[in-house]
Amino acid sequence: MVILLMGPPGSGKGTQAELICQHYAFEHVSTGDLIRAEIASDSEHAGAMRALINRGKLISNELIFALIINKVCDSSKNYLCDGFPRTHEQAVMLDDFLSLQGMKVDAAVNITVPDMVIVQRLSGRLTCRVCKSIYNVHYNPPLLPDVCDNCSSPLEKRTDDSADIVAARLADYHVQSMPILDYLGRKGGLFYVAGDRAPGDVFAEVEKILKKDH
Ligand code: AMP
Repeated sequence: MVILLMGPPGSGKGTQAELICQHYAFEHVSTGDLIRAEIASDSEHAGAMRALINRGKLISNELIFALIINKVCDSSKNYLCDGFPRTHEQAVMLDDFLSLQGMKVDAAVNITVPDMVIVQRLSGRLTCRVCKSIYNVHYNPPLLPDVCDNCSSPLEKRTDDSADIVAARLADYHVQSMPILDYLGRKGGLFYVAGDRAPGDVFAEVEKILKKDH
């Protein structure tokens, strides 16, 4: 089964993915995490990826596909795609790729959050470098400042969470990613969840969708 987690940057996709994977047998495939891992490992495309991500710009569809092609390929598994697809081309490429494996997108959950809330949220976001747990200094602070509750590793602020880069990412989201919702809506299986609430309340609604689909 393949579930897409959609929504603007800062809508809580990563947090919902963590909760889903704690409760259900899904593999979390986050293109953002895959890109950051490529950059950290200084791979062939690391420099180009770093330059784009630091400006809040999207990585090319081809590079994104090269990253996910070996990650979503076993029809006996459940995959949770987070941050992918982000362009109409990626959505079509994903459908074509999955159909070759005898798979399909079973449902898409779109988390909606107003832009103003996103700007505020991302200004306080901290991420664990190691286990990827997500905190927020305003709403969900770690027990010790800048230390992960889960694995005690240092927390960091993403370079692309600065105010000007967030504005660029949101602008790109509206132009490039929102049109995918029309495409997914026409195919069916697209669900909207209001994300401007506590993570547990959002998850309760996401769970209802997952259970309907299981
Ligand atoms: P995220 O962690 O999902 O917020 O992604 C961080 C950044 O990685 C984005 O701002 C983009 O620069 C890049 N990125 C992540 N997923 C994609 C994708 N599907 N297509 C293109 N760029 C992506």
